[in-house]
Amino acid sequence: MLIAHLNQRRLEREAAALGRRRRIAETPCGPRQRLQAADGTTRELLGFCSNDYLGLAHHPELVAALAEGAARWGAGSGASHLVSGHSRAHAELEAALAALLSPCIPGAEALLFCSGYMANLALLTTLGDGEAAIFADKLNHASLIDGGLLADAQMRRYPHGRLDLLDAMLCNCRAAIKLIVTDAVFSMDGDLAPLPALLALAERHDAWLIVDDAHGFGVLGADGRGALSHFGLRSERLIHMGTLGKAAGVGGAFVAAHPAIIDALVQGGRSYIYTTAMPPAQAHALAASLRLIAGDEGRRRRQHLEALVADLRTRLHALIARRPACGWRLADSQTAIQPLIVGDNTTALALSAALETRGLWVPAIRPPTVPAHTARLRITLSAAHAATDVARLCDALEQLSEEPLQP
Ligand SMILES: *Cc1c(COP(=O)(O)O)cnc(C)c1O
Repeated sequence: MLIAHLNQRRLEREAAALGRRRRIAETPCGPRQRLQAADGTTRELLGFCSNDYLGLAHHPELVAALAEGAARWGAGSGASHLVSGHSRAHAELEAALAALLSPCIPGAEALLFCSGYMANLALLTTLGDGEAAIFADKLNHASLIDGGLLADAQMRRYPHGRLDLLDAMLCNCRAAIKLIVTDAVFSMDGDLAPLPALLALAERHDAWLIVDDAHGFGVLGADGRGALSHFGLRSERLIHMGTLGKAAGVGGAFVAAHPAIIDALVQGGRSYIYTTAMPPAQAHALAASLRLIAGDEGRRRRQHLEALVADLRTRLHALIARRPACGWRLADSQTAIQPLIVGDNTTALALSAALETRGLWVPAIRPPTVPAHTARLRITLSAAHAATDVARLCDALEQLSEEPLQP
């Protein structure tokens, strides 16, 4: 019965062009990856889909730091942080992260998590108790939505970027504790949240602002400190969640916030307490990643990434202007996430498949990940790309804009 039920659901999903499948990479993360096709053969594709924005995932210094960390600390942490898994390597990384964020959050402490998903669950369930109300942008990441659903607090969602409606919701709220929650860079659109205006609202309504900086940490702001630094914000009301598996190139996540908030997460965050600490070798490698990000190499990589983003946007705007009949639209994004919105699911899939036959890998993103009728190619750029890679993608899109697509 269960299997028949699941098969039925699968058929329905496939009929709506919503089936998902994984690809097996035979090579490390990077713009050029050898992948296994459905028929078992492998081929190399030029990918525009990773979140490795600075191209650090395969950086020799990080690979060496991971090996050095393993030689010093072994392979695993052996236990959760509160039992015996909390090492000097974790503590040093937390201190380095706190120092990075303290210009934006005076007196901040930092707490490591195994993933951003788990950090968001801990944050929202711990702070969002029965006394609190959560106000969330409708386009927030799934982990923030899930955290809000698990929390005892009531969660209200405001339409994307509609601060006027958020203001009205805050005015009508009688909860003792108010938490505004937003992505800093929206993961499927690439646009930046209006963080200065959100912080002003938080101050006016005595609310706290939780910022999920998964796509900003390492890339935006002075020395790659992230979105808070990008906007020059400074407030004790800010709660920052950064992930360490995207620009930082390794894995894991952290929360930086007021020490009382960090302590509450240690005491009560279930996805902090009831899970094995990340391997100390990973924390050791992450400390090396933070040094790269803040140093000259990080600066050069951020500049190169910015130039690639500008070049891609110029080329795609020109293409869309030449071929308005395609109905394509480039999202209004200044970040490494550059979605090309094409509309329906089958067009997005056909375009992605046609690019693949030309050796290019750009994923089609469909509902429910994005709203209905806004299926898109989610192009992400990395400092590991060359200018010629961007040109190759744009040339292929130019050709495809002239041809009817075969679904
Ligand atoms: C990737 C992502 C997360 C989850 O982080 P992981 O470390 O991959 O679990 C959370 N929020 C946003 C906005 C993300 O893009």
